[in-house]
Amino acid sequence: SDTLAAADPELARVIGDELRRQQDQIELIASENIVSRAVLEAQGSVLTNKYAEGYPSKRYYGGCEYVDVAEQLAIDRAKALFNCAYANVQPHSGAQANQAVFMALLKPGDTFMGMDLTHGGHLTHGSAANQSGKWFNVVSYGVRPEDHRIDYEAMEAKAREHKPKLIIAGASAYPREIDFARFRAIADEIGAYLMVDMAHYAGLIAAGVYPSPLPHAHIVTTTTHKTLRGPRGGMILSNDLDLGKKINSAVFPGLQGGPLMHVISAKAVAFGEALKPEFKEYAAQVKANAQVLADVLIKGGLDIVSGGTDSHIVLVDLRPKKLTGRDAEVSLEHAGMTCNKNGVPFDPEKPMVTSGVRLGTPAATTRGFGTEEFRQVGEMIIEVLDALAKSNGDNSAAEARVREKVQALCRRFPIY
Ligand code: PLP
Repeated sequence: SDTLAAADPELARVIGDELRRQQDQIELIASENIVSRAVLEAQGSVLTNKYAEGYPSKRYYGGCEYVDVAEQLAIDRAKALFNCAYANVQPHSGAQANQAVFMALLKPGDTFMGMDLTHGGHLTHGSAANQSGKWFNVVSYGVRPEDHRIDYEAMEAKAREHKPKLIIAGASAYPREIDFARFRAIADEIGAYLMVDMAHYAGLIAAGVYPSPLPHAHIVTTTTHKTLRGPRGGMILSNDLDLGKKINSAVFPGLQGGPLMHVISAKAVAFGEALKPEFKEYAAQVKANAQVLADVLIKGGLDIVSGGTDSHIVLVDLRPKKLTGRDAEVSLEHAGMTCNKNGVPFDPEKPMVTSGVRLGTPAATTRGFGTEEFRQVGEMIIEVLDALAKSNGDNSAAEARVREKVQALCRRFPIY
């Protein structure tokens, strides 16, 4: 037999182990989700064999009649989902979607403005370690110390002073709504393009529970695997068809070669799912769950950056319990709850230590957790962290106790 288990037992075991890890722990990483079997099946299909450089009906290879249909379905569903005129579903990832926009609109040395990584922005929004920070002149904006909301006045003042060609709105660790209209107004005033990177919020936006950037931005980029619950990948949207032509050339042949047709077909499946009424309920539940989680953690003595959330993200400041993000992440993982350490705005700790953890509700909501389950998740987090604060480095008793409760909850809401 040529099944994976027979052909490569070593790798089959790894995949089996990872499946059980996903089944038995509560996934709280804000950028992750659990895709449907249909998405998995499309991504694992024979479409991986196909070269299809170009775009539907304009390919550089023969035999594209079926993958053309798949890509056109993905494009049409994306346009319907986000109510826009143009979609490119080929970027291999969110980072490459952003790179394609830089390639289409900027030249090396040009100035652009993005949100500071340490205030919640993404690496590709101008971090010194990323190509965006190495090849361009970056001006950053951030949040206000008093309420952790974007400091729009300071952002506008910097935009007027430095006249960036491109302004990026969007973030990886900003739990609140973003005023996209205000970003567009300053972009228009200084003659800049506005790009919104909605990677984190895309599913919530598709469902109408977070404001859409599409009426405001020249270009919108996203990943497809976070709240949108599709395969790992990127996408670029716009209402400006001329800009769309430039973006198409930047993605291919500018940056990429053959598109990943198996992934694109899985994107089409996920967008089809997101167009269904159930997805609206899902996204509303993601948000309601995040609000409950934030409330329980505040009652348990933790600080929440910005005091709460308007999205799927809860950014926890651990300093009231004198804990670091590094230690909290490890102990929570031992207890069966997976999250990532994350800097909080104005964090005094180093990036590998941090004072915070970032939590998110999309994955556990997919497996069926409602507000009652997220109340329990919040209480279990407090139980682990309170014990950790009192322990002298060994928190194994509390971790084992909570791990039992986590597994009971996971068994009630099985996946795959
Ligand atoms: N943009 C934002 C806002 C993100 O949060 C991320 C991923 O974390 C990306 C872009 C990059 O996506 P990818 O990891 O697919 O390159």
